[in-house]
Amino acid sequence: MTMTQHILDVQASIQSDKRAMDRLVTLCDRYGHRLSGSDSLERALDWLDKTLRQDGFESVTRQPVMVPRWERGKESLELVTPPQTPLAMLGLGGSIGTSNRGLVAPVVPVMDFSDLAAKADMVRGKVVLFNVPFTTYGATVQYRAKGAVAAAKAGAVAAIVRSVGPKSLQTPHTGAMFYEDDVVKIPTCAVSIEGAELLQRLYDSGDKPMVRLKMQAHMRPDRRSSNIWADIRGSKYPDEVVVLGGHIDSWDVGQGANDDAGGCCAAWEALMHLKRGGWRPRRTIRVAFWVNEENGTRGGIEYAARVKAVREVHRLLVESDSGVGNPLAVGITTKNVNNFRAIEAELKPLLQDRLGVEVTNGGGGADVGPTGALGYPTAGLNTDTTEYWNVHHTHADTVDKINPADFRRCTSSLATIAIWASESDIAI
Ligand SMILES: [Zn+2]
Repeated sequence: MTMTQHILDVQASIQSDKRAMDRLVTLCDRYGHRLSGSDSLERALDWLDKTLRQDGFESVTRQPVMVPRWERGKESLELVTPPQTPLAMLGLGGSIGTSNRGLVAPVVPVMDFSDLAAKADMVRGKVVLFNVPFTTYGATVQYRAKGAVAAAKAGAVAAIVRSVGPKSLQTPHTGAMFYEDDVVKIPTCAVSIEGAELLQRLYDSGDKPMVRLKMQAHMRPDRRSSNIWADIRGSKYPDEVVVLGGHIDSWDVGQGANDDAGGCCAAWEALMHLKRGGWRPRRTIRVAFWVNEENGTRGGIEYAARVKAVREVHRLLVESDSGVGNPLAVGITTKNVNNFRAIEAELKPLLQDRLGVEVTNGGGGADVGPTGALGYPTAGLNTDTTEYWNVHHTHADTVDKINPADFRRCTSSLATIAIWASESDIAI
């Protein structure tokens, strides 16, 4: 069978598969969210390990990875002046906690880092609210990541960030934050967009809003976890590997369905379909589940360390970590920029003409990045993220948000790129 014929068969089999989402539903509903260091992540990994072996993959590998262990504990943010009900909040991953009694202080909203600098003499002893509306994730997430350090430098006692998301139904968004060694650590949390707007209105009206923040968040010693991958061994070049994958960890809210159980299961289903009927690729095709993308990327780093140590040649690493909304493009970072035109010419009839998925220059992901840095080509599946950013890192990232038809198109795109990368001899 030709490569093109096999790709068309696999695309057809995925589009007509009614059970495509079964595993995604099982992972989400039976194992729940999967924060690094949690028991639920380890249970999910054990299930994956067992199920991959039942699937008949020739080798299933579990690579030990030590992961950080941040625990949220109980937490609350309450508006005490004027007296109100609690505000919808989530502590940010990595934050320290408060004392048991919590801290009570007035809130000073700022629009951005330069506004904070302008108000530096007003925020000492107070709580800074970074009330920065969502533009793009990249532009807005810096307030979640670096807000606590900036606020602490100005003498604030805590930092609150407006949730990093475009829309809200009282859905706060958690996510990683970072301290700096020489800056005092202050607790930090996200508040819903509604809460941020309320605090801003009260402040603007001269009411001097005061909040009580209570957080039990703390770090525990690192815990042993693992990356898992499963291989279909190549017939002609078994030592050249094509990888599809996503990150198996998530935040400790919702189900981590779109981020990134969906990406993991789309890659997994892609391999299940392409190996049907005993089809054997020319190069080895692997599905990988990396751990700890959310708060450390240690899975991706350890994976690259092993690749380097055993000199395992990677033909292409494809990451699926933008949710499983309607797929728009596969972005590829080639070894040599001159390779792209020829790749596009081969892939366009298979991806764009068949599935409406473009082939674009440049792509990857957090987990494949460290291996890409060794000089191997990487790619990322880019999807329509309109709905993704609304649920990302929230209690609402649950499997009911996933559209089965979009999920199947993601699976089909991933299967197409894997078959192409394993069969074509074109340079990537
Ligand atoms: Zn993710």
